[in-house]
Amino acid sequence: MPWHIGVSLTADHVAARPNGPLWEKVAAGIDSSNSPHSSAATEDNAGRAALGHRSILDVGLAGFAESEAINVRSGPILLWITEPDSLIDCQTFWNYRALRCLRWPASPVYLLPDRALSDWVGLEELIRQMVRERQFGGRPDVVINSVSVHDAQLKLMGEQLGLTYVASKQVTMTSIAAIVDRTLRIEFSFTTDVDPRDWLLFERTFGYDDWFRVQTFRQGTAVPVLPESLRPIVSGHAGIPLRLRLGGGFLQELPRTPSTARAVLETAIWSGPHLQSIVGISSNGLLNINVPSQERVLQLVAHDVGGEVELSDKGRLAASLLRRHDVSVLNAVSSLAAIRALTTRRSKELVKELTRLEDPLPDEIVNLVSSLGGRVERNYRSAGKLQARDLSVSEAIDVLETLTDRGWFERGFKVSCQSCGMSSFIPATSLASPALCPQCNTTSELIRTEAGVEMYYRLDAFADRCSDQGVVTHAAVGSVLLASHSFSALHLGVDIAWEDGGVAEVDILGFLGARLVAGEVKTSAAEFTDDQIDRDIALSAMVGVQTHVLAYVRPTKDLRFLVRARAVCADAGLDLLVVRPNDNGQLTVGPHG
Ligand SMILES: [Zn+2]
Repeated sequence: MPWHIGVSLTADHVAARPNGPLWEKVAAGIDSSNSPHSSAATEDNAGRAALGHRSILDVGLAGFAESEAINVRSGPILLWITEPDSLIDCQTFWNYRALRCLRWPASPVYLLPDRALSDWVGLEELIRQMVRERQFGGRPDVVINSVSVHDAQLKLMGEQLGLTYVASKQVTMTSIAAIVDRTLRIEFSFTTDVDPRDWLLFERTFGYDDWFRVQTFRQGTAVPVLPESLRPIVSGHAGIPLRLRLGGGFLQELPRTPSTARAVLETAIWSGPHLQSIVGISSNGLLNINVPSQERVLQLVAHDVGGEVELSDKGRLAASLLRRHDVSVLNAVSSLAAIRALTTRRSKELVKELTRLEDPLPDEIVNLVSSLGGRVERNYRSAGKLQARDLSVSEAIDVLETLTDRGWFERGFKVSCQSCGMSSFIPATSLASPALCPQCNTTSELIRTEAGVEMYYRLDAFADRCSDQGVVTHAAVGSVLLASHSFSALHLGVDIAWEDGGVAEVDILGFLGARLVAGEVKTSAAEFTDDQIDRDIALSAMVGVQTHVLAYVRPTKDLRFLVRARAVCADAGLDLLVVRPNDNGQLTVGPHG
């Protein structure tokens, strides 16, 4: 694309004479340093520099053009004629010129004094040539406007330029991308007194667009922020401030919170998808930025919630479960069912015992808890007696074997001791011959069926504790969410304390790429009552995320609660992300119902 700002920066640039008329200063600009080198020698010297984009004003525009333009059109050449010191003409021209398209020569605007055509040698031919070479696709070719100069004189000037007057004030425009008609026209038209806003007004953002590939490092990635074409202008001016927007690359993946902007560049803020800052340009044109890690971004995101955010006990357990176990197997609903069936219900056991005591004394509770810690043996079962929801025996064997290979279960055998009367699990790895009862060391027989010695399965001790606390479900949902985006991190359980004393517990808080998410995980969809949904979504809104996550892991047919969740999210201005089992028994992430 041709750059209108592609001015030759090596050519001498001309400023208006300090004692020249007003129009000259408006057309060519003033050199504040009053350098005699830049000052025009004569009035027409300044005027021709402005026509040729060689004025000091053009230098100031270098690097300043539309980076985005919507509905930009090509219109006639606007010649603004003025009495040399007419304030109203100079000011009006100044304002219209400010609207012209900078990136493409779509709408040339020029200011000339009324005496120019008669006084400046060769000006007529210069303008004729401009019109001829432009071969504008719309009509007319030129609009001549003025406030201080009579319309009759403007018409005479148009004719003097060899243009044909058309009375119509109707202007037709063309696309800036229109290919010039190859049949060259030799007749050109003009009219006078037309409001030029029709072709000068369009929606735009300014800036110089440049793109580059850069190797990123966690600390100190050097980004070339100074475009080649701007180097001659700022050379020798290290520290010159540049208003800068960076986008793309890893920035597209970052959630847009104040802290993440500062983590990349101390002075930066987000402006839409861009990181924006005013920076002093170093002499080499490089700017150092940081690329925060997922862990760091998660810290920052939690910080920007606005309250004190701490991992809850469950959150801590879930984090360590994600580190220690292969959680990818958990996206199968059957895995979760098998784990659930084999979980040792310590907490449920405790509640059961406590309710058995009527009005317990604190001492009794302490005694009960300490006795229960040692008394509850980890649950173990054979595949045939797994009793997992919706799993046949052969499916149960498949699931248990897979999970055992991934470290979730251990295989073993069962002895029912004749001597001490206790039943025990003996891990396959510590089986002696003959088998001994682990409680009393008496030789015992392994439990067998008609088909032989029976295999039993027991959850890994840590996984068992996590499952008892409901953390495995959280880890399963977390792992499915994390797998949905390559740059992502989640806290799977936080306590939030706000300054006003409010507290809340959130199951999920973090980011999936640029998207901040918070939400609630339940085992069964039935737990998502209307009240629960309203509370969860209100909390997500309060935390300041864009996306609310609703997750459940047990298949259900009744999806009415999702309709409600969708409506409440829409009211709160949140996107809804649902994690749920599909028909093939796999947990999936989807927008909704
Ligand atoms: Zn025994």
